[in-house]
Amino acid sequence: TQPVDILGIPFENTTEKDFQAILHNVINQHQNTFVVTANPEIVMYAKANPDYEKLITTADYIVPDGIGIIMGAKMLKTPLKERVTGYDLFVHLLEWGNANQKSAYFVGAQPAVIRKLKKVVQENYPFLTIAGTHDGYFGDDRNIVHDIKRTQPDMVFVATGYPKQEAFINKNRRAADALWIGIGGSFDVLAG
Ligand code: UDP
Repeated sequence: TQPVDILGIPFENTTEKDFQAILHNVINQHQNTFVVTANPEIVMYAKANPDYEKLITTADYIVPDGIGIIMGAKMLKTPLKERVTGYDLFVHLLEWGNANQKSAYFVGAQPAVIRKLKKVVQENYPFLTIAGTHDGYFGDDRNIVHDIKRTQPDMVFVATGYPKQEAFINKNRRAADALWIGIGGSFDVLAG
């Protein structure tokens, strides 16, 4: 389907189920894919920062993360089918990755959070390979990118908050033909 333009940002007009199926397909085919899960804050930030707007529109898919975008789309008389949140996609991909023996790399959050997250993932998704983890407080990204290149994961979850996570993905996505997705504070939520 055609994307729906919200303040110049092209949003995927899809259901959560359909979008999950799209992602299964791109992961199985090792298509290099960049997904932005955009909430109203991200849209407003993009409008105020043209460089960031340009950067997020290099994504293959921008999905509406949260009810604010759905309500805005309705008001603009260009309704979107359903919200597709970063956290829900994250949990779904962990489950699907576990069932299909995929591998994932995790970048983001504070060191204690990413350590806890690793344990939670190992316990709950034992057949998902953890290709690597790194906290989100780094200066130079060279070591992380080298590690992603070496391990060639199926999925790269980047949870360093916007705009950092999208800039990281835009800059580094050629390191692996994976699904690269920015998911904000999701590691904190899953790690509890
Ligand atoms: N974070 C990070 N590196 C940074 C700044 C933030 O890893 O340099 C993490 C932070 O620990 C938290 C997440 O990014 O886990 C930001 O969460 P938030 O819910 O604020 O996401 P946003 O709405 O900003 O995308």
